[in-house]
Amino acid sequence: MTTLTPILTRNWDQADSFTLAAYEREGGYGALRTALGMEPDTIVSAVKDSGLRGRGGAGFPTGMKWGFLPPSSDKPRYLVVNADESEPGTCKDIPLMMANPHVLVEGVVISAYAIRSNHAFIYVRGEVLHVIRRLQQAVAEAYEAGYLGKNILGSGYDLELVVHSGAGAYICGEETALLDSLEGFRGQPRLKPPFPAVAGLYGGPTVINNVESIASVPSIVENGADWFAAMGTEKSKGYGIFSLSGHVTRPGQYEAPLGITLRELLDMAGGIREGHRLKFWTPGGSSTPIFTDEHLDVPLDFESVGAAGSMLGTRALQIFDETTCVVRAVLRWSEFYAHESCGKCTPCREGTYWYKLTLARLERGQGSEEDLETLLDLSENILGRSFCALGDGATSPVVSSIQLFRDEYLQHFEQGGCPFDPAASTLWA
Ligand code: NAD
Ligand code: SF4
Repeated sequence: MTTLTPILTRNWDQADSFTLAAYEREGGYGALRTALGMEPDTIVSAVKDSGLRGRGGAGFPTGMKWGFLPPSSDKPRYLVVNADESEPGTCKDIPLMMANPHVLVEGVVISAYAIRSNHAFIYVRGEVLHVIRRLQQAVAEAYEAGYLGKNILGSGYDLELVVHSGAGAYICGEETALLDSLEGFRGQPRLKPPFPAVAGLYGGPTVINNVESIASVPSIVENGADWFAAMGTEKSKGYGIFSLSGHVTRPGQYEAPLGITLRELLDMAGGIREGHRLKFWTPGGSSTPIFTDEHLDVPLDFESVGAAGSMLGTRALQIFDETTCVVRAVLRWSEFYAHESCGKCTPCREGTYWYKLTLARLERGQGSEEDLETLLDLSENILGRSFCALGDGATSPVVSSIQLFRDEYLQHFEQGGCPFDPAASTLWA
């Protein structure tokens, strides 16, 4: 039986957990003191050896990404934290920044020192004003205490950290759209390569990492790469925050080693709401193919979830019981993608619009079997032909739901309407 590993979440139940005093009381900024006594390359090696993989969804090895920075450049190096958490169902970075902003600030200083950068940014989703204020407060406290600014803790190392607010667009979580937005342009993805490590912010070498990835760095420095690598699975090492939402008795954030199963997490979360049973769920947000109760024992690590036909993504476990209409859920997600498509490329811009129209017709019971073929045909023309991952992600719930619940789609037009009572599900406003 896998148990929880409260590391990033360990102080969340303390009323003053977000303050510098509370963080220091628990030994906070001790890892920074250790790091500043180390060679930057030794920290990069430790992060590589730990096996930490990007916690924003893609799972790219963090240390390897840092290693892609060119050894010399005539432009400054930048560290950018992607705090634009917006994937439907994903709720881990925002509570982390609210409850423990200093672990992120400490992670930023150590990571920037390791990659030899003197300029760092935290790009925060625009809608979460409370998080922006909390981060600004934490950054001000850190400057005041000498953890940021000139000659940090007398080490001779300087770092300026800016908290930047986005304007509320899902696409700005795509790393190159984020950079455009940070530079003051409309946020739209750039062509890759060059990857940001080579030509990123203002054309300079840039490391972009997710909040949880950077927040994991202090504990790796403090406890060592082997400590981190001993948790998780062979290729998906360490721990992560799993967000459980929907028809679960105790929704919330559960920090556990990668490889834990939904069955184990549900046991800790009090199970599916009383009197009901699991119907379908997302392992990593709405951009990942859905699973059913047959997948309860799939280890939640990058490899196992991939082998079972989905993606670990952001570990956003959205749980739906038998009262939920799968067509309605997929319609809701498709409306989201159609709204958030940046419009740069035709497959995504047009495809998500036609998804929305076709699914709405099907959900009302006015569609036909031909509409299912239209949805699959659209999906073939979006997947692999879109400019960025948003388009590909939009196809996941559509294709997987037709594969797993074709009969439910047919039932809608056979009986001329949705067979489910939206009120019973309690999820629809
Ligand atoms: P990606 O696989 O293209 O890239 C992952 C990271 O590795 C990037 O930082 C990229 O620059 C770097 N990288 C990859 N190959 C490289 C190379 N050869 N050289 C240098 N760097 C390289 O994935 P992506 O498009 O950045 O992200 C997609 C993921 O984002 C999805 O899996 C999804 O789960 C996740 N996502 C998260 C949220 C959220 O709210 N957290 C929202 C939407 C999507
Ligand atoms: Fe924009 Fe969608 Fe194309 Fe991405 S896939 S560039 S979000 S239109």
